[in-house]
Amino acid sequence: MQTPSSTGADCVIVINCGSSSLKLAVLPAEGETVLLKGLAERLGGPDATLTVEKDGETTVTSIPSASHHEALQATVRSMDGLTPRGIGHRVVHGGEEFTASALIDDGVMEAVERCASLAPLHNPANLTGIRTARSLFPGLPQVAVFDTAFHQTLPPKAFHYAIPHSYYEDLKVRRYGFHGTSHHYVSLEAARMLGKRAEETSLITLHIGNGCSGCAIRDGRSVDTTMGLTPSEGLVMGTRSGDVDPALHQFLQDQTGMRLGEITAMLNSRSGLLGLSGLSNDMRTLSDAARNGHQRAALAIEVFCYRLAKSTAGLMAALERIDAVVFTGGIGENSAEIRAATAAHLAIFGIHLDDAKNSAHANLISSTNSRIPCLVVPTNEELMIARETLRLTS
Ligand code: ADP
Repeated sequence: MQTPSSTGADCVIVINCGSSSLKLAVLPAEGETVLLKGLAERLGGPDATLTVEKDGETTVTSIPSASHHEALQATVRSMDGLTPRGIGHRVVHGGEEFTASALIDDGVMEAVERCASLAPLHNPANLTGIRTARSLFPGLPQVAVFDTAFHQTLPPKAFHYAIPHSYYEDLKVRRYGFHGTSHHYVSLEAARMLGKRAEETSLITLHIGNGCSGCAIRDGRSVDTTMGLTPSEGLVMGTRSGDVDPALHQFLQDQTGMRLGEITAMLNSRSGLLGLSGLSNDMRTLSDAARNGHQRAALAIEVFCYRLAKSTAGLMAALERIDAVVFTGGIGENSAEIRAATAAHLAIFGIHLDDAKNSAHANLISSTNSRIPCLVVPTNEELMIARETLRLTS
């Protein structure tokens, strides 16, 4: 394997490791075009597969029972001719330990492990990715980029829950927020589009994909966000309910005999757009169905847009002025209908979209008489992780 001392290190590897999956992207050290993409799925199982996209070609290989190590090794074999300068890892939870990306050493590994109680499904998998990459590329610098780090600038009034303070002191129960890499990236892009310096730009960024969150950014820093201790809080999402009455758990347990774990699973994986519509968590499917008269698909979309608008209005309380509302994520970037329905609820703030620009997914989609500009900014978390990796390894 090559090391940074090799001449001509010309790319960065970005890894997003899940419990049974591994996503990898290779980006050039200069430029933005992804050179190679790898996706290993169902790792450890008999039907594990590896999909590699390179030079416009996609190959799918069966890798039965392959481990993360074997999957990464197989993907890296396709990198012939490319020499990595560093490896960037998406790490979900950095707790209060990480306010920025970090060059990985044993101390960082231990700290990520300490945060695992806050993200028991994600951080251990992220650590597996780091260990695997370290064993395949010994000596190559590696960087952890945290979903939570961008939100560590939230002031206490935004991050505290109104519960006994001892839960914060003893267990670090507080709002952390997620999608930080995406909110940060689109805020930098939006500042560039607006011709302003990031540290002078105040925005509301709406990351709406399968997972959804909003963020209030004041002078380039996150000052409030809709996700909380976990990614379950806040907006309606593909399969997550977002905010519910905290007494709902007790009510359901009393009425149905469901156990706490079952209720949490229902709120995470059978709720949101899927639960409301009874049809799908996919916005494209729901939009088509609603157009064809599916009433619950229409209801799911209405609830989704209303709650998104309501949270956007709430996030405005964190700002002194606002330069733009920014839509991003699979839905935010691609659905003119959802943007229009959400903006319609925000007319009281003087927000108005230009139908033609909105339908064309232009960067600036608000009308000339809109008091607040609205932008569509495609997110690129891999590029942001690659940039952070280069920044910390150069
Ligand atoms: P993830 O959060 O898993 O990264 P994405 O950001 O890719 O997800 O967003 C997935 C969502 O984006 C799905 O609900 C999908 O239906 C929606 N989406 C993608 N393209 C469109 C489109 N053209 N119109 C409406 N929704 C879309």
